[in-house]
Amino acid sequence: MTLLQSFDARTGAAHGEPLNASTSADIDVAVQAAAAAFDTWGSSTGAQRAALLDALAAALEGDRDALVALADVETALGTARLSGEIDRTAFQLRRFADMATRGVPFERLDDPAVAGAPPAGHPAMLRQRVPLGPVAMFAASNFPFAFSVLGGDTASALAAGCSVVVKAHPGHPQLSQRVFGLIRGVLQDQGLPAGLVGLVQGAAIEVGVALVRHSLIAAGAFTGSTRGGAALQAEANARPRPIPFYGELGSINPVVALPAALDAKGAELAATLAGSIAVGCGQFCTNPGLIVLIDGPATDSLVAQLTAALATQQPHAMLTTGMRRAFDAGITRFIENGAQPLVQQPGSAQAPGPHLLQVSAAKFLQQPALHDEVFGPSSLIVRARSVAEVLAVLDAVGGSLTVTLWGAEAESDDTRALVRGAMAIAGRVLFAGVPTGVAVTAAQQHGGPWPASTQPMTTSVGDAALDRFLRPVSLQDAPAWLRAREGRPC
Ligand code: NAP
Repeated sequence: MTLLQSFDARTGAAHGEPLNASTSADIDVAVQAAAAAFDTWGSSTGAQRAALLDALAAALEGDRDALVALADVETALGTARLSGEIDRTAFQLRRFADMATRGVPFERLDDPAVAGAPPAGHPAMLRQRVPLGPVAMFAASNFPFAFSVLGGDTASALAAGCSVVVKAHPGHPQLSQRVFGLIRGVLQDQGLPAGLVGLVQGAAIEVGVALVRHSLIAAGAFTGSTRGGAALQAEANARPRPIPFYGELGSINPVVALPAALDAKGAELAATLAGSIAVGCGQFCTNPGLIVLIDGPATDSLVAQLTAALATQQPHAMLTTGMRRAFDAGITRFIENGAQPLVQQPGSAQAPGPHLLQVSAAKFLQQPALHDEVFGPSSLIVRARSVAEVLAVLDAVGGSLTVTLWGAEAESDDTRALVRGAMAIAGRVLFAGVPTGVAVTAAQQHGGPWPASTQPMTTSVGDAALDRFLRPVSLQDAPAWLRAREGRPC
């Protein structure tokens, strides 16, 4: 049987005893159990869903100290950040509980019959939504709570009435097991089927592939690399019955700083940007990987200030040694393709130093290798000669979770064009602050055109994340008994 080893992210040393990787029989058992649980959970009430989600939030908070300590060993993200992430995860669970209580998953549109010939006349239509079924959920490495076993994907799927089989991330296997133990306890306390949330694990791609291929899986949710997400999306599409696959993949999150912003507060923006580039060792899907500037004295001074501010940052160890290697390789690739290093701190075996590179917009436009995400504490400055060149750079980026526009306070032809260019490629456009930090709220959009997301019309953060796991059904001329049951047969 294949084994899965946990590692101390700070030292690279093995941590604890190896765990067994899931076999194909284990995966089948977990999915069968999730399918059986869906039979009842799919018709659960909002109150039942809320009770489960609230209890899961309380269970996480109740085990905070042990969870944070374990997560800190496996991820090196630090206890303050990890404890804050538990707060965020519990908040997400309670927010979806509240939505279930308010009946959001059961909202329907009653469109009474209109007499007369079509198209104006039509039958009585009742449009509502049904849960998809068992969801294969791929935990992310960089948010061991908020995007992992009990993260937003699991919370929103349960609130929608779906069951879940989690593919644990091999970067924090012991933590995943501990969180899963909490879930089992809550399910048992509430008399719910153990299979409502399952967990499979492995350190090879076969486990995830088998999960997505399983005929009873109805949807996939994923946060991770573009390569991994693309491979799993292809698996989802290649099934005899393809399924929706909600992947949140790579993003370089351009920050466009116009001279108007730099004239007013360049030093402050440089310090803020340096912090955002290095926070969490740069391991955020919203890390500002591209800084787009227009040549001139204000830009020269921002570049000098940012160089100085970033050089003093001391990122902590990366999540895994593989990510550390990938970071070094990404920086080397940028330099080989013409980027000039401005900050190049060596770092240690586990913790990279911060990096800042610079290139002209003309070179960036010419060289697609410079458009790749380099996951870690680095950013690439692109120096443009005009607003038109900035727009060309945004267009070349293609798809991004965010675009930040600093200095667009006044309306002009330029700011209108830039806002339009930003909206064309990003799911979220910021006019202040930095893209790291994603509010869990009603109007959030965390997704964007490829490669930010496989389904740019959906979000993996915020209230609308629920919509991914519900499918619309119209009931036409439904009988009275069904209408009396608000369109829910059982
Ligand atoms: P990853 O390599 O994409 O892995 C995420 C999950 O998908 C893991 O459970 C992994 O399983 C599985 N997986 C990956 N490729 C697969 C394939 N071809 N078939 C089936 N399953 C597959 O992401 P990661 O380990 O978190 O980080 C690696 C890189 O992803 C980072 O260096 C960074 O570039 C990027 N990343 C991006 C984000 C983001 O939010 N945009 C977040 C995290 C990471 P196994 O590991 O067991 O194979």
